[in-house]
Amino acid sequence: MHCPFCGTHDTKVTDSRLVAEGDQVRRRRQCVACGERFTTYETAELVMPRVIKADGSRESFDEQKLRAGMLRALEKRPVSAEAIEAAVQRIRQTLRARGEREIHARDIGEQVMLALKRLDQVAYIRFASVYRSFQDIDEFRAEIDRLAQEPTFGPDEPRG
Ligand SMILES: [Zn+2]
Repeated sequence: MHCPFCGTHDTKVTDSRLVAEGDQVRRRRQCVACGERFTTYETAELVMPRVIKADGSRESFDEQKLRAGMLRALEKRPVSAEAIEAAVQRIRQTLRARGEREIHARDIGEQVMLALKRLDQVAYIRFASVYRSFQDIDEFRAEIDRLAQEPTFGPDEPRG
């Protein structure tokens, strides 16, 4: 692989390990010429279903968009980049495992909500409040109350 800093054709792999629950290989590389270090991630490229948007139009599945939406909800939250990446890959797998050629955008939204709920309650509420655009404040409160009663409450969240 070419060095992204100086363009030299030869870089060496200094470390290689499985991440995202084994769905990705992370490689630490170092340029033999300039010595700069960088990281590459390798993921199997599989065909994803097309996405049916709310207005009926179709677009290709965009993993960057999915990740960006999650990162926005997780901003300044104590969740590691690897945990987020694992969640993104899990969503991909779930959507692909349906074996359908097309999926609704709202199904992706639901998957993101499920993933965020497992990662971080605050991020989940942030995402859900925008995504579901709660009809009124009572509905929003009810969701928060419901979450507060669940046993899987995050360790860093104040209780009661
Ligand atoms: Zn270089």
